[in-house]
This record gives sequence, structure tokens and C-alpha cells, in this order.
Amino acid sequence: MTGNRVYKTKAIVLKQMPIGETNRIITFYTRSFGKVAAVARGVRRPGSKFGGSLEILNHVQASIARGRSLDNVNECVVIESYQNLRKNLTAIAEGIYIAELVDTFGEDRSPNFSLFDMLLETLSNLDRLEHREFWILWFEFRLLHVSGFLPEFVSCVECGNGLDRTDHVFDPIAGGVLCPDCVNNYGTDQSWNVSVSALTVLRFFQRSLNLNLRSDSSDPYVDDLVDVKAFLRTYMRYIAERDLKSTGFLDLVRFKES
Ligand SMILES: [Zn+2]
Repeated sequence: MTGNRVYKTKAIVLKQMPIGETNRIITFYTRSFGKVAAVARGVRRPGSKFGGSLEILNHVQASIARGRSLDNVNECVVIESYQNLRKNLTAIAEGIYIAELVDTFGEDRSPNFSLFDMLLETLSNLDRLEHREFWILWFEFRLLHVSGFLPEFVSCVECGNGLDRTDHVFDPIAGGVLCPDCVNNYGTDQSWNVSVSALTVLRFFQRSLNLNLRSDSSDPYVDDLVDVKAFLRTYMRYIAERDLKSTGFLDLVRFKES
């Protein structure tokens, strides 16, 4: 490694793990380098130079030194700490869920500017505390898009014919929705039903990919999110090949709030 032993980058703190007596391993999603893990030495000591800068979900400017095995956090300055979100337990759980998704789908040391910007935008939207469920679903959909996992929702993934406005069969192995004719030929035992209500929102999302949906615009389409939420949850789990840890906590706090 030449010259540049220290690098600076904007980053979001995704998670932390204690190591040794006073240290933590911090996982960042950085704008310039993708996912990066680095040790913050002495962070658990009272009066540490890091203060609260390495709290999960903070948007920070970090200075990180390359190490032989693990990198080290030299300095960390908070850009935004999303204080509204932190006062609301459900919003915190939602933020942690988003961070876990980025930890799962984000690649080590491989930048994805779209993913970084989406993450920042979603944390700001959650911090406004309105329509949070909608913004999480919109994040999940775009995460599938930027990760290359976005299925086909507008026409049959096998024959290309348009789909009627009705419930359909979704097959993750085929990579999308199958028309009734193709279900018999191409459907696998991995498929499940996706309702017309879920498909309506998914197609709206698909049409909106190049738009900048904004939290200050009115969004009449948020009425019925139950089915699309269930669909995306199932599909994310399928792609991640496991249950995401934070969904259990998220469901619990949402249930207690309702
Ligand atoms: Zn078909």
C-alpha cells in the first residue's frame, strides 16, 4: 500500500460490536468505499475522543487508517444524528432495519453511490416521522433495483404478455410474475400468490424509479400497504437467504405502538 494510509469519507454507522475491553468494531456504509469495518479504540472509555459520534445511524465524516488486518477509526465528526428519529422507539427500530438491509446487501469495499444516497434520504424521511412505512417500502424496492434483484411486475416474466388487473403468482426463480398460462409450465414450488393490491404498489414503484419521490408531496397511493409489505418482506428474506435479525424487533415495537 502506498502513500494513502489514511482515507476520509462520508459514512453512515450501520452497526457496532464490542471488542476487547474498551474498543468497538464499527461497520460503516461509506460513500466512497462501500461497506467498511474499522476499530474504534478506546470508544467505550469514559471521555473517549469519539464521544457519541459513532452511534448507530449517525451520518458522519470519518477519517480511517488502513491497518494490517482491520482498519482503525482516527476521527469521526457527526454531520447529522437524526434526533427526531431517536426519540421514537419504532422509528429507531425502522432505522436499524434499514441499516441491517444495507449491511446485508452492501458490498465490502465497493462503492454504490445510489445506495448511499438512498440510505441518507431514507433516514431523513424517517426523521420527519411521517409516512414511515411507505418510505421503508420505497427503500426496499430501490434496494432490490440497485442490487440487481428487481423482479418483473408489469408483464409475464416468461411469455412477456401483459398481466390482467388481478391476483397473480410470483415465482422468485423465474424472476417475476407469471401469467395463468405460464404458471403450469414454469411455476416452481418456491412461488407464492401476490395480490392485485400489492401489484398496484409494486408497479407504481417500478414506474417511479427514475423519479424523486419526495416526503413533502402528497402521496395518495399509501392507503393500502399491507400486501406490498408482506410481499417485500418475503422476497427480501428469500434473497437474503435468512430472516433479518431486526425484523422481529421492528414487528414487536410496531405491534405495541398500534
Ligand atoms: Zn406468460
